[in-house]
Parts: sequence; C-alpha cells; structure tokens
Amino acid sequence: AKPIRTIRPGGSAVVMDVTVTHADRILWPGANDVEPVAKLDLARYYEAIGDWLIPHIRGRPCSMIRYPDGIEGKERFFQRHVGQGQSNLITSVTVSGDRKPYIQFNRSEGLIAAAQVAALELHPWNCKPFEPDTPGRLVFDLDPAPDVAFGEVIAAAREIRDRLGTLGLVSFCKTTGGKGLHVVTPIDARGLDWPTAKEFARQVCKAMAADAPDRYLINMSKARRGGRIFLDYLRNDRLATAVAPLSPRARPGAPVSMPLSWSQVRKGLDPTKYTIRTVPPLVEKLRAWEDYREAIRPLPEAIKRLSKQ
Ligand code: ATP
Ligand code: MN
Ligand code: MN
Repeated sequence: AKPIRTIRPGGSAVVMDVTVTHADRILWPGANDVEPVAKLDLARYYEAIGDWLIPHIRGRPCSMIRYPDGIEGKERFFQRHVGQGQSNLITSVTVSGDRKPYIQFNRSEGLIAAAQVAALELHPWNCKPFEPDTPGRLVFDLDPAPDVAFGEVIAAAREIRDRLGTLGLVSFCKTTGGKGLHVVTPIDARGLDWPTAKEFARQVCKAMAADAPDRYLINMSKARRGGRIFLDYLRNDRLATAVAPLSPRARPGAPVSMPLSWSQVRKGLDPTKYTIRTVPPLVEKLRAWEDYREAIRPLPEAIKRLSKQ
C-alpha cells in the first residue's frame, strides 16, 4: 500500500473517483509489528478486493458495522438501513415487511463509499441475489468455546463438508477473522422458504452433535460451558447475516474473513495471517471459491436424502 503520509493531516483522498475525507484517520491502531490502518488504507483495500467481493454480496441486503473513530473508539453502529444523506453509490433495496430501505452493494464504488463512513465490516443476507425471500446459501458458523484448540474447529469444518457432501451439496470454507470458521453451501432452494432451509441446517448440525456430544452442541445457552464447538445454524434465516468473504473485521490486527480451499483447511492453518495488509496481493491469484457459482445444488434433494439417513 502507498504510504498515507502523502495525505496532509485531516485531508482527503480520492479512490475510484470517490472522495475519502479524514483519510489519515486511524481505524485499526498499530500493535507490535503491525502498522496502523487508516481510512484511506481501508478504501484502497476495498478497491483491491472489490471485483472479487461484489459477486458474493450483490443483490443481497448487506449490513455495515461502522466504527467512526476506529475499533477503539466509543461509537459503533450495526447499520442495516440506508441512512439520511447516504452516498448514492450505495444501493437502496426495499424488502417485504419493512418500509425502510436496506443497504446493498452492487458495485465496487459502493465499497469506497462504505469506507468513507468507516464501515469496517460487511454482513450480507444469505438470500439468492435479488430475491430477498429465497434462501441462496447456507452458512454453518462454527463457534468454539475459548478452550477449544483450533485443530478441532478444522476437523468440524471438514466433517460438516463431508456430511453435506453425502447429501449432494458442495461446501466452501472461510476464516471468520475471529475464533471460528464458516462453512458456506450454495443452494437452489427451488421454492422452499427460510424456515425449511433453517430446519435442514438444524437437522444436519443436530445429527453431528448427537454423534459426538463431547465435541459439538447446537444449544446456544450451553455453548459457554466449555470444551465444545457450538454448531451455529442460526445464520440461516431471512434476516440473519454472516460476515462476507474478504470483509475485514473490527478486531486488533485488521483480520479478514479469508476464503480458503479445502486443502488449506488443515493443520497449520493460521487465520491471523490474513489481514488488510496481507490479503490484497493474494486476491489476484485466489483460486479458492472460484467454482462457487457452479456449486449450487438443489436443496429439496438434500432434504430428501437426509430424511432417508
Ligand atoms: P467468530 O469466528 O469469532 O465466531 P463470527 O463472524 O462467526 O466470528 P459470530 O458471533 O459467531 O461471529 O456471528 C456470526 C454472524 O452473525 C456474524 O458474522 C454476524 O453477521 C452475525 N451477528 C453476530 N452478532 C451479531 C449482532 N450482535 N448483531 C447483528 N449480527 C450479528
Ligand atoms: Mn462464529
Ligand atoms: Mn455464531
């Protein structure tokens, strides 16, 4: 990244023809060997990864988590709806059941507008693009208790993939930028609704927890009891979100939710390696998830197969 010292204090910069004010504002403070990340760095990050990211969020309502004064600042908003005076590079989308329009990003310039309002994280719905009421993918959110080794999370992700594989579904894995992993499964819901999709996800997780109750559980209230991984199927709902692949996280070190190939999901995987600084040079040759669109499989078949197991 170009040094931000070229910006005068409090000055503006232009990225993809979008003005970024207070470009030198630090959003992620530096730590040890990590350089601080300024607002301009975030804008340049979104510019670098926009072409990869947009296909995964376009046509889907997408919340922003904004930290106007950075991750150590007092203010923090989880913003679902388009706000007053919001940039017209951010699309407004109306969905049934809510008069207020939701935020949507259909092009990279919108991401720069997101950086301008200090949107450090992007959390889309999991609907089919441009069909907010239709499930488009399932997300299995693996949430380890603090004392669970990361190797256990890796094993859980592989097991979910295998279980979904026997049901005819194809899965992709990403780091979260946090403690766990997400397994993402593109589906063709074929007219099925979210309650049906969610129940399917719950059944898959329930069977997995029943087979290894010492390792997994699906009951959130017991999830903090330690030693186990909460198989969080609750992302699979109309209004639920999961962090987007390649979205940064508002956590120390500016980590990124990194899409992985399954060959990377094994011993030695270090999610902290993937940050706003390290990811841009990797994106051009990123092969992970490249067959995502071709991996969409029918959900009704999977439900049928599950009922026969
Ligand atoms: P980690 O690996 O640390 O669990 P994560 O992104 O999976 O990272 P979770 O707390 O498990 O974090 O949340 C999963 C998803 O649920 C988030 O990515 C987010 O989209 C959504 N979510 C979680 N908490 C909230 C919240 N308070 N408000 C809105 N959405 C939330
Ligand atoms: Mn999680
Ligand atoms: Mn969770």
